[in-house]
Amino acid sequence: AKAEGRNAFRFFDAAMDAAVEERERLELDLRGALSRDEFMLHYQPVIDLETGQVIGREALLRWRHPVRGLVSPGEFIPLAEETRLIVEIGAWALRRACADALAFGDKARMAVNVSAVQFGQPGFAHTVLAALCASGLPAHRLELEITETVLMQDAESLIATLMVLRDLGVSIALDDFGTGYSSLSYLRRFPFDKIKIDRSFIADIANPETAAIVRAIVGLGASLGMRVTAEGVETEAQAAILRNEGCGEAQGYLFGRPAPLAPAVGCPDQAVEQ
Ligand code: C2E
Ligand code: CA
Ligand code: CA
Ligand code: CA
Repeated sequence: AKAEGRNAFRFFDAAMDAAVEERERLELDLRGALSRDEFMLHYQPVIDLETGQVIGREALLRWRHPVRGLVSPGEFIPLAEETRLIVEIGAWALRRACADALAFGDKARMAVNVSAVQFGQPGFAHTVLAALCASGLPAHRLELEITETVLMQDAESLIATLMVLRDLGVSIALDDFGTGYSSLSYLRRFPFDKIKIDRSFIADIANPETAAIVRAIVGLGASLGMRVTAEGVETEAQAAILRNEGCGEAQGYLFGRPAPLAPAVGCPDQAVEQ
């Protein structure tokens, strides 16, 4: 039994080593990914629920790994944040998204996700301004999506950065609304332009209790003068309920999957079997 335990431990040990090695391998790959031009952005349309028109797009990062294939952000953004590589990757994404916003040839807004590590950088507002200037995209067409983790940082410099961006004319959206610990208190501290209702609420919207929460968020947005977008809309039934609750904008596989600007260059995110 003792030998068995020792073997199990060795096995566990080897598995740990493998995991550490795997992570180090990925970190090494990630460090070179930007210079090897392995990142790309997929764009997902944001729809006006009343007119059905595309009024915006969200830029979503993809990593074309030479061996692993297309790696989703959930798999590498945490590592990019830990290593602070996200600062450079995020600046690249901002420049790319601003340039592509014009290439789409319409007047839709471009939304870019910003990580807390990136937002906390002293030069962040300047990075945004540089991306706008280099592309020629009017500031009012750029929207930055931030989550609660951004707002948990040192409040004073944070509010200062938000104000600078605001003065430039850039919109700020509060992403994944309703999933954090204190979304409501953040709404009181800062006037966002938009609230994005997390897709977990939309997935469960057939449930009357969840629909009541969504209704309350839509009402909250209206009384605070903030636009409200529902994320992860996958069915016509969900869209109908959202329309009925007065939600203005929606995003989700029902309206369009994230896809590259030039479809010839890459493929849209694959349909996942339900
Ligand atoms: P997010 O900002 O909440 O983005 C929405 C996620 O939901 C995206 O996943 C999108 O592909 C997915 N999605 C859209 N419509 C539907 C739907 O109808 N059903 C379902 N099930 N999913 C849908 P993705 O692209 O894997 O991105 C995951 C997260 O990675 C994002 O969540 C965001 O937090 C982060 N991320 C993506 N791009 C960037 C970036 O450029 N910078 C930073 N800092 N984070 C990023
Ligand atoms: Ca987002
Ligand atoms: Ca979200
Ligand atoms: Ca999310």
